[in-house]
Amino acid sequence: MKDYMIRAISLDGSIRVVAARTTDIVSIAREVHNLSNTATAALGRLLTAGLLVSTGMKGDDTLTLRVNGGGPLGNLIVDADADGHIRGYVSHPEVELPLKNGKLDVGGAVGSEGQMYLTKDLGLKEPYTGSARLISGEIAEDMTYFLWQSEQIRSATTLGVLVGKEGVLAAGGLLLQLLPGYDEGLVDNIEANFADLSDISRIIETGVGPEELVARALAGIDYRIIDEKEVSFTCRCSKDKVAAALILLEDEELLEMMGDERTVAKCHFCGEEYVFTREDLREFIKNKKAL
Ligand SMILES: [Zn+2]
Repeated sequence: MKDYMIRAISLDGSIRVVAARTTDIVSIAREVHNLSNTATAALGRLLTAGLLVSTGMKGDDTLTLRVNGGGPLGNLIVDADADGHIRGYVSHPEVELPLKNGKLDVGGAVGSEGQMYLTKDLGLKEPYTGSARLISGEIAEDMTYFLWQSEQIRSATTLGVLVGKEGVLAAGGLLLQLLPGYDEGLVDNIEANFADLSDISRIIETGVGPEELVARALAGIDYRIIDEKEVSFTCRCSKDKVAAALILLEDEELLEMMGDERTVAKCHFCGEEYVFTREDLREFIKNKKAL
């Protein structure tokens, strides 16, 4: 089963839900970055959150979701486009913490002394950035608080990554948003539905997909599915893009790199290595002079 996400809306138009299965995405992230179990859960939750808030983007729109909570993992960054592609990395992928109450200590590893930042580049003059302080570093409640602080949207978020001896067993999440005019009488109903979804990774492990997650979140409420989209861990890097970044370096830096036979530039997001020869760097300096 491939990773995908589903969008739904209540028939009265006041409740929006998006649910995603991200097991393969988190598995690939774990592999390319050699993530510890705790880092897998932390980055996996942020990758899932990035997809859940990426719905509604079009064309070349992109978004970046960043968390820095002052914990041992350092910065966590994910980046999504409008086609369901997501990528991401963490500063210290090797960090492992002892279990807390039998669970991976994501909050302790991320830390809660910092901010969550969401930058949307929608092709306008300036990208839009919103931020909010972290609540716990557990990501889901930080996302809920962020949406309230920056967009005044009342929401509920659940995110989960289940890691076993063999790697990632299941991952996914669900975001429910209440739009202006929602029926206050439905809130108790939704909260009860959500209580049953708190262990979402275990639910996904049993084979439950996004449709069923939406059905459970909206049990007792009439709704319709808006769309379904395949999602994947895919990086947008290329040798040309890395070269374009190298050209921006100072001549002295490029000359210093030419001391080595070959320069290897590694993509932070996916670990792909791009090799440039001394001759390539010499060309860059020549091209800069021609600009
Ligand atoms: Zn890359």
